Amino acid sequence: MNKSYDVIIIGGGIIGTASAFHLAKKGVKVALLEQRYIGDGPTGKSSAIIRQHYSNELTARMAHYGVQVFQQFEAEVGGECGYNNTGFFVIGSKENGPELLKNLDMQKSVGIRTELFSNESVVALFPGLILDDSVTVIYEPDGGYADAYLTANSFAQAAKEFGAHIYQKSKVTDIRRSGDKVVGVDSTKGQLDAPIIICCTGAWTKGVCETLDLNIPINPCRVQVAYFKRPRNVRGHQPVVTDFINETYFRSEGITLTLAGLIDPAEANAIVDPDQFNESIDIGFVEKIGKKIITRYPDMVHSKSTGGYASMYAVTPDWHPIVDEIPFGSGYYVCSGFSGHGFKLSPAVGLMVSEMITKSSNPMFDHRFFRFNRFEENRPIGGSYDQSIVG
Ligand SMILES: Cc1cc2nc3c(=O)[nH]c(=O)nc-3n(C[C@H](O)[C@H](O)[C@H](O)COP(=O)(O)OP(=O)(O)OC[C@H]3O[C@@H](n4cnc5c(N)ncnc54)[C@H](O)[C@@H]3O)c2cc1C
Repeated sequence: MNKSYDVIIIGGGIIGTASAFHLAKKGVKVALLEQRYIGDGPTGKSSAIIRQHYSNELTARMAHYGVQVFQQFEAEVGGECGYNNTGFFVIGSKENGPELLKNLDMQKSVGIRTELFSNESVVALFPGLILDDSVTVIYEPDGGYADAYLTANSFAQAAKEFGAHIYQKSKVTDIRRSGDKVVGVDSTKGQLDAPIIICCTGAWTKGVCETLDLNIPINPCRVQVAYFKRPRNVRGHQPVVTDFINETYFRSEGITLTLAGLIDPAEANAIVDPDQFNESIDIGFVEKIGKKIITRYPDMVHSKSTGGYASMYAVTPDWHPIVDEIPFGSGYYVCSGFSGHGFKLSPAVGLMVSEMITKSSNPMFDHRFFRFNRFEENRPIGGSYDQSIVG
């Protein structure tokens, strides 16, 4: 192949495919190159929880837009996303209370359906949860989870239908430049040309950008997810729980399994080589998270571990992505570093990227919130909680 495009996207995870969809829909001639298969990286391992609880207005608006797309996915994009509307709880400590309530007001002001719940109301929806007077609980009726692999493949298919070319098993091996500007890529399938290249390579971004002598602060960090088969008396769909106190999240996986992971900022310390790391779950992790889940949901004491896996978050110093042209005027854009919350934002990120590339004068989502220079300026994006992943 030796073809010319308006835009080349590197990476076929949820961010690359959502961006390809929105750009192609706007009539931009797009090629997307994925070294393996669409959604086959961390996207395919995502817990894919959908919630709108954020402490920044822009990310709350993005998550709100995302929910509306997931709810109407077939009409908005085409194909399936596997949205499972179970509802979503945030359980915070009393100390978290003022921030939770401040954020609740902000979220309501942008149209998000969310409420402070009494412990009795929580247990009515999720019998068996143990809550005491020290907790503050927020509920989102539109929360739930989806299927990130399915969603990425639906975005890719829809992008194709708008004319995008999707190349799988196509690794970008070099980014070509003429002077200060990018002109195309070399790949395992040959050369492609374009004046704009968008790097949507998640955990691989640091390495990909090093080929351009760019030092991008996005670390590939190993994270784990465990499955437990629930006891017979607690089968069925259950609301998603994010528990600040135990630094865990858990949700149904179908009607018989519970999927669980951590929301521990220390996960950013487990930096790995994205091409060579242990993708199996550690037995110590299963024991640790099992104990934490039982603290909140004692019925799980009779559950059975059914394994799990490890994957990667792509983590920046503030756990928010970089969406920017680097350096300015080069035609090279980075859209990576979504840590553990990129799936729910992906419909909005795709739109944001298309607005950035087509230089929309009135964007719905202004990418400059995620500008690269914020780290140099020592002005990271702040959040209300110790659990940076919540954002
Ligand atoms: C275990 C886990 C649980 C999560 N849970 C949630 C959740 O509940 N809710 C939520 O919103 N988010 C969640 N996330 C986060 C979310 O899944 C990620 O933010 C999102 O999937 C990242 O997508 P991406 O497209 O940026 O990256 P990736 O999925 O990593 O895609 C990047 C792609 O680039 C490709 N690539 C790399 N280098 C090259 C190259 N040189 N040439 C061609 N292709 C290349 C890779 O093969 C890969 O497919 C979770 C993530 C994990 C790992």
